[in-house]
Amino acid sequence: MPKKQQHILQIGDPVLREKAVDVKPHLIQSARIQAFIAKMINTLHANEGVGLAAPQIGKLLRIIIVDNSGGKSRRKKNSEYFARHILINPRITQTSKKIEADWEGCLSIDNGDLLGMVPRYTQVTVTALDEKGKEITIQATEFQARVLQHEIDHLDGILFFDRMRKQDMKTLTTRYYWDKYYNK
Ligand code: ZN
Repeated sequence: MPKKQQHILQIGDPVLREKAVDVKPHLIQSARIQAFIAKMINTLHANEGVGLAAPQIGKLLRIIIVDNSGGKSRRKKNSEYFARHILINPRITQTSKKIEADWEGCLSIDNGDLLGMVPRYTQVTVTALDEKGKEITIQATEFQARVLQHEIDHLDGILFFDRMRKQDMKTLTTRYYWDKYYNK
């Protein structure tokens, strides 16, 4: 197994199907949680992802990281830029009526090499605590909204193909064929 993927659980690991628990707010600043957040950031960057949820590295805590600010991402379009946020106990408090399907992969499914069209809300509002325990609200659209919905799903044991409609299933493709036929 390639070294860089060593910390990311893969589909089939029962942990990925369990529900994570809230982090007690007074523990957010503890050395243990801060070290865990640092580990999540390192793991996300080492795998060139744009989002990671704590259960993916084996901890059933409600912590996610989203980050499309670096140059290493597989999704490089400027319009898809968003800053790094560490979100603890995140909750979707509002969604658009509009839903759109677009390509999605997951570091826990064949290390990100299986892609499919997944319907998601085009806009979401997410309220959470940040890494200092401060309440933050993010109003996200398009790609950021998609990544937030994907990562929050991980906290409830939901994987992206659970969200796919029957007619979306035939879009499932390896990254190799996605590059060959669909990457425009
Ligand atoms: Zn994922």
